[in-house]
Amino acid sequence: MGWKIFFSFLFILIVIGLLGIYWFVPFREVEFQPRDVNTNFSISGGDNPEMQFYPNMRYPESMISYKIYNCPLKKKNDMEQAFYTLSNTTMLKFYPVNFNEEIAVTCESKERIEGGLFIAGEGGPTNITQTSLFNIITHGKILLIKESDCPRPNIAIHELLHALGFDHSDNPNNVLHNITNCDQTIGQDTINVIKKIYSTSSYSDLAIINASASIDGRYLNIEANLRNNGLARSSQSEMMIYADDNLAKNLTLDEMQFGYGLKITLKNIWVSNAKIQTVKIQINSHSEELNKENNQITLRIKD
Ligand SMILES: [Zn+2]
Repeated sequence: MGWKIFFSFLFILIVIGLLGIYWFVPFREVEFQPRDVNTNFSISGGDNPEMQFYPNMRYPESMISYKIYNCPLKKKNDMEQAFYTLSNTTMLKFYPVNFNEEIAVTCESKERIEGGLFIAGEGGPTNITQTSLFNIITHGKILLIKESDCPRPNIAIHELLHALGFDHSDNPNNVLHNITNCDQTIGQDTINVIKKIYSTSSYSDLAIINASASIDGRYLNIEANLRNNGLARSSQSEMMIYADDNLAKNLTLDEMQFGYGLKITLKNIWVSNAKIQTVKIQINSHSEELNKENNQITLRIKD
């Protein structure tokens, strides 16, 4: 039970932290758009509300980096064995790095008891970026307290699955059960969920969230909100504005990290025809995207 409370508390902190970042960090004319407009794209059957802390939690790529900090040999071996086991049973691959790791593993030698139970370890995502499709884990943590007495390092596997976003299982035979034993195995449902959420390629996805236009004589004003809803940083791209199919303006968009947004305000774009009917805004991205349908929008001028 102590666990659940700990994680609930941790996640509330993360959510508050993220909100704080979005509201207070001054991006370049950036507006965070939590809304989910203009998209009929979703990953098929990606609903696994009970198995993960949040739906569709994943790391940006299926290759996930880790670093093990100052652990005694046995725990280090347990952890490496856990990474190896998950690499063999799922489509995920784990690789060690010296810095900027996605999963940080630490160890503690003191035993800890909470609610009459020995705490074996802790694990979970510590940083999440929300997009319209995923809760993207950009950082996770594992703390190994107890060594495993089992042939399979079930404690390390359990904590690794937490770091991948998985919550406890009610099934005592599942390695994600909150009380560990040596006979527990990784549930097929867990493997299936991993397969499903990581089947989406790690591409960017620039999307026009909403846009408006007005015309004043021969001068056009445009406002548009863009967001990268993908799983990768978008490359530099162009934004084209057409007034009745004639190019009225184009501008270069910088690279954008996933989860980030940009508000673009353009004033006094001169157009040759004062009686234009439509304005089309289009993003030409040079990188692969999850969905290109949300890269353009056509507006009718209101006067
Ligand atoms: Zn647990």
